Amino acid sequence: MSLRRGDEMIRCSFCGRAAHEAASMVGGTGVYICDRCIRDAADILRQDGIEMRPATPRLPAPHRARRSPLALKRALDEYVVGQDAAKRALAVAVHNHYKRLADDFVPGYEDVEIEKSNVLLVGPSGAGKTLLARTLARVLDVPFAIADATALTEAGYVGDDVESILAHLLQAADFNVERAQHGIVYLDEIDKVARRQDGPSITRDVSGEGVQQALLKILEGTVASVPPKGGRKHPEAQLVSIDTSHILFICGGAFEGLDAIVERRRGRTPMGFGAGHRRTSATTLDAKPEDFVRYGLIPELVGRLPVAAALHPLDDAALRRILTEPKNALVRQYQKLAAMDGVSLAFDDDALDAIVAQAKRLGTGARGLRAVMERLMLDVMFEAEATPGYVRITRATVDDGMPPLREPLRAAG
Ligand code: ADP
Repeated sequence: MSLRRGDEMIRCSFCGRAAHEAASMVGGTGVYICDRCIRDAADILRQDGIEMRPATPRLPAPHRARRSPLALKRALDEYVVGQDAAKRALAVAVHNHYKRLADDFVPGYEDVEIEKSNVLLVGPSGAGKTLLARTLARVLDVPFAIADATALTEAGYVGDDVESILAHLLQAADFNVERAQHGIVYLDEIDKVARRQDGPSITRDVSGEGVQQALLKILEGTVASVPPKGGRKHPEAQLVSIDTSHILFICGGAFEGLDAIVERRRGRTPMGFGAGHRRTSATTLDAKPEDFVRYGLIPELVGRLPVAAALHPLDDAALRRILTEPKNALVRQYQKLAAMDGVSLAFDDDALDAIVAQAKRLGTGARGLRAVMERLMLDVMFEAEATPGYVRITRATVDDGMPPLREPLRAAG
């Protein structure tokens, strides 16, 4: 770091240390103090019996130890296969989000306030949107809550109101308000609360715009009153105030039909020759804020979601990798379960290919892998404890329901 004020190197006004020699430097009006002098000063106060409490609540440690976008992306890579564009967008957004929270002193930029960047993930079901958001919370060690936008209604209607999202987050933070205020919320199916311009919507009017307005408030940052433990069952319990201005909201949705809107804007008609082809998500990648507005999101909400990233539908190769590569890969999970029963579980390569092919047919992205595996492993799991040993899943097991190859444990020696 080499910070300068005009031609002059910035130095600690107490010890004279230059900015680049200090881990951190706090500035006042024309004066600066380095981290070491702050610590020394704090020691003196403590010796004088003055209790040291931060004037503003400090962020928990993980936020202060900010990770670079590259480090964040690498951490995501351990759990999520592919989706590089979304990972990069998320990594940068999160890095900036926590920079904004730390609000370090940067000479010359004292009056510049960094606005919050919530994130919008666009992609088909089962492509990893929720997984990305959840993994991000995990690597940052912050509380995480998932909410489904379709379950939300305007206050007064039957259903969850927007504040219930924060109640979940508070719960995930073990009712620690400070931790909850720095958490991550994943808001699924945000596309389903779009206003429908095409024709009257009789069933949907309760949600739609009203819900978007309510969401807008908490996305922007507001102090919301949230029912504490037990929720609304105990109306006498005092409400907890949660400030949402530091909560990172990641919204996700499939946005079916968005590509057609993008193409129409570009002047290409989606009708006629070739309209039946599936458009690539490259089109979705080009989506601009106005396209989301045309889709039915209110402009203010789109304005609060400045980072939009597209996820691709997962192809065979990605599905195959998902089976074995991530830290929590399905194959590894089943191998662990089996090992607990003394069973050593192996899969033939072509058995894994067959699992992918079956999952693909379900059309639910990587979610299909779990369904196929679950059914496949049922018998193995059922018999595992009774017959410990070596179990090999072959292609015939997957495709034709043949029993896996088994080899019982031989007695030692
Ligand atoms: P979405 O939110 O996009 O509908 P999810 O993130 O809920 O999809 O994915 C469903 C499941 O599929 C996850 O629990 C995860 O096991 C798996 N999965 C989906 N995408 C990926 C991916 N890119 N890498 C690894 N696993 C994935």
